[in-house]
Amino acid sequence: MEGITKKCNKCGEEKTATKEYFYADKQFASGLRSICKICSGKHYYENKEQISTQRKEHYYNNQDEILAKNREKYANNYNGVQELSKERYQNNKDVILVTHRLWHSNNREAANARSRDYHAANRDTSNARRRVKA
Ligand SMILES: [Zn+2]
Repeated sequence: MEGITKKCNKCGEEKTATKEYFYADKQFASGLRSICKICSGKHYYENKEQISTQRKEHYYNNQDEILAKNREKYANNYNGVQELSKERYQNNKDVILVTHRLWHSNNREAANARSRDYHAANRDTSNARRRVKA
């Protein structure tokens, strides 16, 4: 493949026919897009507003439908998850309790260390947050 060049259909420049200069695209026989990466980028940039407007419009036009679908999905899932975990809990209550207790006594050190690490690592962030609040 080395040395083979490919002419970009947009800027007309000869560039090495590799993925470094052209995006891969199985639609083309060469396996590469007919316009170079730079032109592909320009195309997106030039149409960015149009593309995002289209997306926004799609969302706006279908807002109710999208929201209703999401709500429905959540409601269905929510009950399912609740029922399932309740059932699992009832069936395995003893096992779960014993396992939890065991885990805690076995991992007390590890759990303490972890929370120490967490606080140390996040000291700056939590201080900053506190400062903002005050
Ligand atoms: Zn080009």
